[in-house]
Amino acid sequence: MNILVLNCGSSSLKYQLLNMDTETLLVKGLCERIGIDGFLKHERGDQVYEANLPMPDHEAAVKIVLDALLDAEHGVLKSMDEIHAVGHRVVHGGEQFSDSILIDEEVEHVIHKCGDLAPLHNPSNLVGIRACKHIMPNVPQVAVFDTAFHSSMPKKAYLYAIPYEYYEKHKIRKYGFHGTSHKYVSMRAAELLNKPYDELKIITCHLGNGASICAVDCGRSVDTSMGMTPLEGLIMGTRSGDIDPAVIPFIMQKGHLTVQETIDLLNKKSGVLGVSGVSSDFRDIGAAAAEGNEQAQAALDSYWYRVARYIGSYTASMNGVDAIVFTAGVGENHIQTREEVCKYLTYLGVDVDTAKNDVRGKEVDFSKDGAKVRTLVIPTNEELVIARDTKRIVSN
Ligand code: AMP
Repeated sequence: MNILVLNCGSSSLKYQLLNMDTETLLVKGLCERIGIDGFLKHERGDQVYEANLPMPDHEAAVKIVLDALLDAEHGVLKSMDEIHAVGHRVVHGGEQFSDSILIDEEVEHVIHKCGDLAPLHNPSNLVGIRACKHIMPNVPQVAVFDTAFHSSMPKKAYLYAIPYEYYEKHKIRKYGFHGTSHKYVSMRAAELLNKPYDELKIITCHLGNGASICAVDCGRSVDTSMGMTPLEGLIMGTRSGDIDPAVIPFIMQKGHLTVQETIDLLNKKSGVLGVSGVSSDFRDIGAAAAEGNEQAQAALDSYWYRVARYIGSYTASMNGVDAIVFTAGVGENHIQTREEVCKYLTYLGVDVDTAKNDVRGKEVDFSKDGAKVRTLVIPTNEELVIARDTKRIVSN
């Protein structure tokens, strides 16, 4: 069974085609600058094909992806009939979706309604779904939600302490994101540790440009650091994460900013970029700090401290921790981040083997032999989770 996985952003579309009989990746690629001009990058193994192609909208981009899959030179399919299902990443499923689901008109309608809670993401996801339905009307489409894995959170974890009517009327609560990633790396951790998933207390740290932490107790998300939107929680590349809410009107007053300008400041100009004044990329910040840039060092110190603080609090949530997993761009590649975060955690029984930690983008248990809490790097694979869910849903 071949499954096409799509992740549609406002001006981009990432895709992977997987053979799900063997769980192997056939091709992957990216359409960028949709609605502007259009650029395709298509990769089959080591072969990379790049082209500037007009993409006035997402439907045009989906057609270009299908052409690339069928292309005699860099494609892998002979006919569109060889695509058996499409799995769509959808960011927000609200309270309605606790699992992936086959898309019909009702599901589309609810995804549209959840757009209230994720105005930057859900509308683009929906555009991708509609484009595929139009071009491939007979191929089943499945929605896989970033929020679904966190639907197991108890009320005490997801309620905000504001008047209850805001939860009842407007569904204002913590939802959490990166669910497919937290699910994948926590399950993989259990496999690597050779222990039953439903007996482990795991803390997963998805540290990418966006970043979140999740407490996975016996296979269920019981708390996570992102909130109603992906702005809450950790310090991120350009997002502030947790902040005293009273700072917000203060910033607006001092900078004469509108609500939208303030939200943009917190989403796009804050985080390690805002504090360092250098970049949102840890390679640049690390280089600047090594040259003595104090703001860059302050950004790193604050980032590490907050990750460690969340791990401490999630250990309390679960009354213990067996394993801590690092994933995504920073978690997989920034060796110093893992080392510095773990320095705060020796009281828990974390004991890092520095030589084993000297790795980028590979699965490794970098704890010393005998360490009470295992520390692991596991490269995330959200597309594989989406494809597995899609296969499960269409096979039923
Ligand atoms: P993601 O959102 O998961 O793609 O992560 C992107 C971020 O990962 C970048 O902004 C960098 O901060 C970080 N990153 C990626 N590669 C490296 C690397 N080799 N060393 C350090 N940080 C990296």
